[in-house]
Amino acid sequence: MSTTISEATTIPALLAEMAELGDHPAIVDGTTTVTYRDLETRVREVAAAYLSQGVVRGDRVAVWAPNRAEFILAMLGAQLIGASVVPLNTRYTGNEAAVILSRSRAVALVMAEGFLGRSYASALRDAASSLGAAGAVYPGLEHLRVAVTLPGADCAEAGHLCWEEFLAAGTALSAAGLQDAIDQVTPHDVMDILFTSGTTGIPKGVMSAHRQTLSVARAWALGAELSADDRYAIVNPFFHGFGYKAGVITALMAGTTIYPVAVFQPDQLLELIQSAGITVLPGVPTIFTSLLDHPRLSEYDLSSLRFAIAGATAAPATLFHDMVGILGFRTVAQAYGLTECVVATLSRPGETLEHAAQTTGPAVHGVEIRVVDEDGRDVEVGTDGEILLRGDNVMLGYFEDEESTNAAIDPQGWFRTGDVGRFDEHGCLKITDRLKDMFIVGGFNVYPAEVENVLRKHPAVNESAVVGIDDDRMGTVGRAYVLLLHTAEDKPDAVELDAFCRAHLANFKVPREFVFVEDFPRNATGKILKSDLRQVAH
Ligand code: AMP
Repeated sequence: MSTTISEATTIPALLAEMAELGDHPAIVDGTTTVTYRDLETRVREVAAAYLSQGVVRGDRVAVWAPNRAEFILAMLGAQLIGASVVPLNTRYTGNEAAVILSRSRAVALVMAEGFLGRSYASALRDAASSLGAAGAVYPGLEHLRVAVTLPGADCAEAGHLCWEEFLAAGTALSAAGLQDAIDQVTPHDVMDILFTSGTTGIPKGVMSAHRQTLSVARAWALGAELSADDRYAIVNPFFHGFGYKAGVITALMAGTTIYPVAVFQPDQLLELIQSAGITVLPGVPTIFTSLLDHPRLSEYDLSSLRFAIAGATAAPATLFHDMVGILGFRTVAQAYGLTECVVATLSRPGETLEHAAQTTGPAVHGVEIRVVDEDGRDVEVGTDGEILLRGDNVMLGYFEDEESTNAAIDPQGWFRTGDVGRFDEHGCLKITDRLKDMFIVGGFNVYPAEVENVLRKHPAVNESAVVGIDDDRMGTVGRAYVLLLHTAEDKPDAVELDAFCRAHLANFKVPREFVFVEDFPRNATGKILKSDLRQVAH
């Protein structure tokens, strides 16, 4: 079976169109299969459940769960009635999640309890209480009216509904009431708000409309030549643009079957590729290097693998060759994007391996790219400059943050990425550097400002500077240079600072190393010269 890629511009239109694929599987998650026909039915049930809880078009619904079938149902159910989805990083601490739930004024939260051995509910309860007392479900989150626990965990947590209970309550809603809510959704309604930490360390909510998220997904599906014959293992997290827009929504646009992967474990992924005949497997380079290093790799039949994107961060030079020569992919491509414009470039179909490895490809349909110098003038082909993006795939703006939006997008609509790159003679973009203070740990972005803000809260820390250092497995990890207060009575060691960071930050943001210094290299105004620290670190 093969399909053409959908031209839908809203989730309701997409689901109705794809329901025509009938018994073709949309999602296979362990022993659970959801066909395309069932997908529409089940998403409608979830939508009715939200409506019966008073969730309406324009509200925010947060989803805090690993990659699994119910994540997709919970997300699409909200979007089907025009609510915006706010996905939360599964590694977040209670504090990080509480801040985003509060900032977005989410009215509903769907969560998987117990993922990676953590209780989200108790972490959230502890953290939210510091924000205030009012709140029906969590004191401190006054806008949150309903919290739902996904199957597989005890949902007795005070005030939570079990997923089944939540769905059952929705059955009381009339079909006409549901249809009326669905019919109001337009391509311009905000479909998702993806929070990124940003260089100030304060999370910003990137808003995209239905037409934009679907257009991003369409560009990816076209570039990957995706069809209903494909089986797409989604390792990239659903809470991030790569797993959500370039993953779930992209697959649905092409009638592809989704295999959610909750936790990356090389053994299990190899097993899945073999047993399910996975054809599409994008990921950060760490995923592929881990598969290549697997001692029993040759025992698996990986001949179904067709297409991969090793993106999101610079890939080691030999990786693309090994992905074809050893893992057996027919095509390995690169893409460049960021939360504000998830797919900006993509390798051309039929691209040579060398060129795909060196550049991220030309602009996708609907995106314009400029590379400019410090004065905003276009630079020549082959010269580095800041990458600017414009077009339908670029976000609407940051949620309730006009100042940041205006700083990021100029009046002509050009979005400043903070990334540095250059065009080659084929119009393909190569990413060479970053202006913004950010590094990527195994695919997750770390903004040093956020980590430094946390370290500053430690009573013995005077100042700190966090930089990325090379790491064989993760690509980059953090190192914190720390200047302690001379007056501090109890001087913490690295173990204590590690524990302090862990209490406030998701684990990938916690520096791998702490180096105590007497002072920092500084410029004339006293600002820490991070470039000098980075040089020492490499
Ligand atoms: P995020 O907002 O989490 O999607 O992170 C996006 C950032 O990842 C971009 O601003 C780039 O710095 C980096 N990035 C994305 N794609 C690539 C790529 N193909 N090569 C190098 N860096 C990339």
